[in-house]
Amino acid sequence: MIIPKYKLLFISTPVGAIGTGVGGGVELTLFNITQEMKRRGHKIEIIAPNGSVMQPFTVTEIAGELQIPGQTQTRDSPITMPKNSVLANMWDYARQVQSNYDLIVNFAYDWLPLYLTSFFQIPIAHLISMGSLTDAMDSIIEEVAIKFPGTLGVHSQTQAATFTFAQQCTSLLNGMDLSIYHFCHQPNQTLAWVGRIAPEKGLEDAVASAKITGIPLKIFGLIQDESYWQKICQDYPDAPIEYMGFLPTVELQKQLGKCMALLVTPRWVEAFGNVAIEALACGVPLIAYRRGGLTEIVQEGKTGFLVEPDSVQGLVDAIGRLNEIDRYACRQQAEVEYSLEAMGDRVEQWFEDILTKRTKP
Ligand code: UDP
Repeated sequence: MIIPKYKLLFISTPVGAIGTGVGGGVELTLFNITQEMKRRGHKIEIIAPNGSVMQPFTVTEIAGELQIPGQTQTRDSPITMPKNSVLANMWDYARQVQSNYDLIVNFAYDWLPLYLTSFFQIPIAHLISMGSLTDAMDSIIEEVAIKFPGTLGVHSQTQAATFTFAQQCTSLLNGMDLSIYHFCHQPNQTLAWVGRIAPEKGLEDAVASAKITGIPLKIFGLIQDESYWQKICQDYPDAPIEYMGFLPTVELQKQLGKCMALLVTPRWVEAFGNVAIEALACGVPLIAYRRGGLTEIVQEGKTGFLVEPDSVQGLVDAIGRLNEIDRYACRQQAEVEYSLEAMGDRVEQWFEDILTKRTKP
């Protein structure tokens, strides 16, 4: 089937400017979907907070105060909005330009865009980037699921299963530009951990496993929670760890590729785990807690190991079995399941389904 060329308005997360890392995996997902949809001939405008950089694409920057990230909230937290909210400002801009577009794609895990869906003249696709976190978010997402069937995208079935309306979600997985991730056949005796340094990511368990095995651990990512990071440093003063900073993708893949495995240790239901497929693309096996999207990514014993959640001993045991993994099988899995083309087919079909339903008489 030939898919028409669409005019798409992408609205980024209001928790931080693109390029800072505050938006976590959403930043790379937005970049990758933009790149692939442009390659397919669709027209795209990207709206994001002031200071956003997404070379080579231009971004319409919007001023205003940033939103608090959803993962810092507790289940009964009410929705809060700062004064002069960038979220509200981005959606006000979208309201004014909507007639130029076929579809808006919302990349934010926030209440307002979901609530506003009924008030817009054009359809809105919501890419939900996290599992269930708060009651207020669950209920507004559910409302959209009922009123606008097919408009909710998620990254994994496991993420969808955290909601009561899992059946209404389209699982899009994710995809990477594999041409910038280089396969590394011969790793160093080094482990890697990649992600936002924040409590839901469970970095301390990876550090503990490095201490037990004596294998150096390189840590890549934005320190989002400084006191959490300081506590890890205090609790494990003699662990063989090295903080590498938050690196651009091209640099990150260079360093990551040289590691013998990526440890993925989430405390929460990780919606997907971009870092997992970035590692596979470099030929790096995964040692991951059996939680969230990771359970759908790791091919047990072939491209990594799934470990009992929160078990440092489980991580240590899996590290001892790394010689069973063929690094080439990791790269191959990325090529088959997580290329930009494979992701683009899933996302384009999702857009197509939303738009054809909408235009049906
Ligand atoms: N990342 C990066 N440079 C680094 C460390 C991490 O660009 O030094 C990016 C990584 O490529 C990934 C994101 O940070 O896209 C983390 O996303 P993930 O989906 O793993 O977790 P999230 O932060 O969304 O919970």
